[in-house]
Amino acid sequence: MENLKRNLENVKSALKSGVTLVAVSKGQGAEAVREAVRLGQRVFGENRVKEAAEKWGGLPERGEAELRLIGPLQTNKVREALEIFDVIETVDRSALVDEIAKETAKRGGKTREFLIQVNIGEEEQKSGVAPEAADALVKYAREKGLHITGLMCIPPAGETPAPFFALLAGIARRNGLGVLSMGMSEDFIVAQEMGATHVRVGRGVFGERV
Ligand SMILES: *Cc1c(COP(=O)(O)O)cnc(C)c1O
Repeated sequence: MENLKRNLENVKSALKSGVTLVAVSKGQGAEAVREAVRLGQRVFGENRVKEAAEKWGGLPERGEAELRLIGPLQTNKVREALEIFDVIETVDRSALVDEIAKETAKRGGKTREFLIQVNIGEEEQKSGVAPEAADALVKYAREKGLHITGLMCIPPAGETPAPFFALLAGIARRNGLGVLSMGMSEDFIVAQEMGATHVRVGRGVFGERV
């Protein structure tokens, strides 16, 4: 925790102006995120609905933070996710769009913005819509009334990420989407060169997850 201040300063000083740092606090306790808020960090990424609810639910700092869901979302967790997250970055299939639209119509929710997750490396084990199906999903989600602002991706591990970031940027451009959530601890510098507006940094901010 004593390194948090230094890490935040280091990452932020490496960011171009206009690029938002999403501090990925999965696996971190409430004390760590409170400290990060105290140090001025405002935007956080969590990858599990339940963990986010437990960690952030009762925190006085919640009101100062923007919470973004960056992990896969099951349809049976949609209700809860809509209550917790300001932004959901992982919309990746029409059934999920349907459930979000249904729950929003029924009871509303606090989520005001959605991103489409693209499986940019077309990896079998990864979630995200296939690149060639992304345009259709964006269109579908818009028709269902979701406020889609951008795209998110995780490029394949162990490969040069730049071409994948470029591919995502191209899909965003042709769909008129301004938000690009791409880049993590290892590759956020490259990602911002390729047009990232949001970089999701976990270990680079909080240190190795235990
Ligand atoms: C964990 C995670 C990150 C952050 O990864 P680090 O390597 O710790 O920076 C970013 N995006 C997603 C979707 C993640 O699950």
